[in-house]
Amino acid sequence: METIFRIHRFNPETDREPFFREYRLDAEPNLRVLDCLNRIKWEHDGGLSYRMSCAHGVCGSCAVKINGRCTLACQTLVRDVAGDVVTIEPLPSFKVVKDLIVDLDAFMARVACIRPFLLSHGPVPDRERPQSPEERKKIDEVIRCILCACCTGACPVSQGDPNYLGPAPLVQAFRRIFDSRDDETSARLAQMDAPDAAWGCVNHFECTRVCPKRIPITKSINFIKREIEKTRDQQIMTEINRAEKRPED
Ligand code: SF4
Repeated sequence: METIFRIHRFNPETDREPFFREYRLDAEPNLRVLDCLNRIKWEHDGGLSYRMSCAHGVCGSCAVKINGRCTLACQTLVRDVAGDVVTIEPLPSFKVVKDLIVDLDAFMARVACIRPFLLSHGPVPDRERPQSPEERKKIDEVIRCILCACCTGACPVSQGDPNYLGPAPLVQAFRRIFDSRDDETSARLAQMDAPDAAWGCVNHFECTRVCPKRIPITKSINFIKREIEKTRDQQIMTEINRAEKRPED
């Protein structure tokens, strides 16, 4: 099946403006879009630049926008994007380094700022930190995140507000807030309680629609918001109880 691949090209060293170049390929319906990119590079245009590594939906490197949808090129079959023309662009919201490669530094810095690792204050145990199946179930879905950035690319809030933390860092925050072994829940919730953090999400659901790991991202962000409110209510009740116990003047 002959398919036209319309690919975003931009080399900041030689091009004033981005442009699209078309490549014709005889592509089997079961071929992955990543395979097509490889064939275009190897057989037609060695200058084409894109990221890839595992090619099996684990590393998240090959995230691009295919026919308007942010997704992994390695998980998208030609038949899934059927039509005469397949348009491939870099992820939106990110600065383009070259062709389909975007600069992920700011994205990774936002992930790093939420401290995406276990913070436990107890003594270091001899063996692993145990967790019951029920406790683990709370984070089962979010641990699938591979930091591909498709969600952030698709998020209308991230596209308009460079200060917004974005869906992927919020998923990472959820993972630690609801991890029974983590001891920094209060500090993490306080960090999320900001207009650029959890409250920046206004439920567009685009992140949830595109996540290649089927993580219920918007639902997870709303859980964080609910947890923030629960903590606020508890703090208010503590203040009231304390005030009621004070001796009258
Ligand atoms: Fe990718 Fe999903 Fe993780 Fe977002 S939440 S970075 S879309 S795997």
